[in-house]
Amino acid sequence: SLGSEHRFAQFKLVLLGESAVGKSSIVQRFVKDSFSDFRESTIGAAFLTQTVDLDANTTVKFEIWDTAGQERYRSLASIYYRNAQAALVVYDITQESSLDKAKYWIKELQKQARGGIIIALVGNKTDLEQERKVSSEEAESFAKGLGLLYFEVSAKSGTGVRECFKQIALKMPIED
Ligand code: GDP
Repeated sequence: SLGSEHRFAQFKLVLLGESAVGKSSIVQRFVKDSFSDFRESTIGAAFLTQTVDLDANTTVKFEIWDTAGQERYRSLASIYYRNAQAALVVYDITQESSLDKAKYWIKELQKQARGGIIIALVGNKTDLEQERKVSSEEAESFAKGLGLLYFEVSAKSGTGVRECFKQIALKMPIED
């Protein structure tokens, strides 16, 4: 009957960032709610799907493209982000250089991705707080200055991962 239809929308989301920042682990946590210390590195790109229920009648499905961070796949990445509607640009809070790489990817996205793409800067490995090299303030003010979403997560403990995808889902253009 009128007004009770379930709203369902599907979006393409790409993960970008330096190798070993935890992109595959974030996806594994989100999709399978699991974590493993030893992971095979992604070759080229891997594809998975997962849904997020925003409320009783709204479901968002993400087609997730997890790209390999290695230099030799860098040119391949554009195939995945060119028509993505959302991007998670991941860095490791214990590796200062990974934030520089994240800034590079954000610039690439702003040059080449489609207009209106939702970009989130995501600091991973918050379980390693003792080894932190990038302050939350530095990364957050960078992200907010560019109008990006900002999250800190731990794929290992799971902290923040679902919330990050939920907040992105809330930003997606869902028609009635
Ligand atoms: P990718 O190359 O960016 O996809 O990174 P991976 O997901 O393969 O992770 C690289 C390494 O970091 C692996 O040894 C993971 O187990 C580890 N790792 C990933 N996420 C976390 C995290 O949240 N905390 C900790 N302590 N280690 C993590």
